[in-house]
Amino acid sequence: MTSLSFRTNMMYHRIMLIRLMVKFVGLFMLAACSLSFTHAADKTLSSLIDKKIEKHLPEIIRIRRFLHMNPELGNREFETSKLVASKLLSQGLEVKSGIAKTGVIGILQGDQAGFSIGFRADMDALPIQENSQTPYASLNPGVMHACGHDIHTSIALGTAMVLSSLRDHINGSIKFIFQPAEEGPPAGEEGGASLMIKEGVLADPDIKAIFGLHVWPEIDVGQVRFSSGPVLASADSFEISLHGKSSHGARPHEGVDAIFLSSQIIVAIHSTMSRTVDPMDPAVVSIGKIQGGIRSNIIADEVHLAGTVRTLTEANRTRIQNLIENITRGFTQPFGASYDFSYRRGSPPVYNHPGLAEVMRPTLEQVLGKANVLNLPPQMVAEDFSEFCQKIPGFYFMLGVKNPSQKSMPPLHSPDFNPDERSIAVGIKIVSHLLLDCLAHRNSFKSEIY
Ligand SMILES: [Zn+2]
Ligand SMILES: [Zn+2]
Repeated sequence: MTSLSFRTNMMYHRIMLIRLMVKFVGLFMLAACSLSFTHAADKTLSSLIDKKIEKHLPEIIRIRRFLHMNPELGNREFETSKLVASKLLSQGLEVKSGIAKTGVIGILQGDQAGFSIGFRADMDALPIQENSQTPYASLNPGVMHACGHDIHTSIALGTAMVLSSLRDHINGSIKFIFQPAEEGPPAGEEGGASLMIKEGVLADPDIKAIFGLHVWPEIDVGQVRFSSGPVLASADSFEISLHGKSSHGARPHEGVDAIFLSSQIIVAIHSTMSRTVDPMDPAVVSIGKIQGGIRSNIIADEVHLAGTVRTLTEANRTRIQNLIENITRGFTQPFGASYDFSYRRGSPPVYNHPGLAEVMRPTLEQVLGKANVLNLPPQMVAEDFSEFCQKIPGFYFMLGVKNPSQKSMPPLHSPDFNPDERSIAVGIKIVSHLLLDCLAHRNSFKSEIY
């Protein structure tokens, strides 16, 4: 009896223990599932997106080639802008044109309630003569899509075409932002992301997060690079004019040698950088222009220097601006020279919002496979997408455009730059999933996003 009741008791406890374990494992699984859920994991929707891409791809490739053949410089993207607006209208989007000169916005309203997010594509080309032998090489002499903005524009249009027939899967709305003058507006004009923001691109409806990408020639089609936090540098520029006194080259003590001073200043800037800037917080100063002097045996009284400053943090930006001016003052005063110094703040660093990056990483991994989502070490190039990241959470990634069978390809801004067009379909797929998942993840975001 005792032993029977003991056995019964033991069995009872075992059953309870197993039940508890099942319950615990179930809860854990549920939590894990809700954390890793992405639309990208929804096979039906995923194959629907693939089919839509397949359907629209021939037209998108035609559009991309048209854009490539007809590149337009910053703030002059008149035909590009018209093409974008008419394509968006034909897909039933609400379209606004003429924002920040030639910018276009297309709003895609989903069937489900939710918030609004944005996707930004830049449209401008560069003043470069194309070398490529492709049948769709630039027809506009001296102007070329050498930074791949034709690919960006095509991906944004393609995504709008794909998602406009999937409104029932959209919780909220998507604002497609086609931006002029990313490479900088013509001298004396405003333009680019900052002007779009000034003209209200982030409002009506207010967008809670913004996505962007850039073609990246260092990785294969089918791969992306991204990371959380700072990814691209700020881009500031400075100019120094040194005013000395001319004299005979054989009698330098009677003049103030501006060329000698400029050489001291250049060496001092570079050497002081290595002793005052935290090596774990990268920064670059490059002096790309120096002009001065008129003859080999005349001491130069004027020298003009111009350079660029790239940093990943605001602290370094301010530190380096002060450092350059202090060095200039420190060298000119003892020699009786004077100087003019001007420092122009360009776009700030591009910053991937850590909360948004954490939520979106599984989507990239689902779409491309974990092995194709590569880490992006901070780059010292710049991009005015950063202006949006200053206002709202941003997510920016690099899209592989290298043909995998080639070892390397010409870099961005090269007259031989020729991205693999298969990257367009990959880009549309990634962006479609990122946007849908971001809207579906409404409850996963911390309050700063939602
Ligand atoms: Zn560029
Ligand atoms: Zn670019």
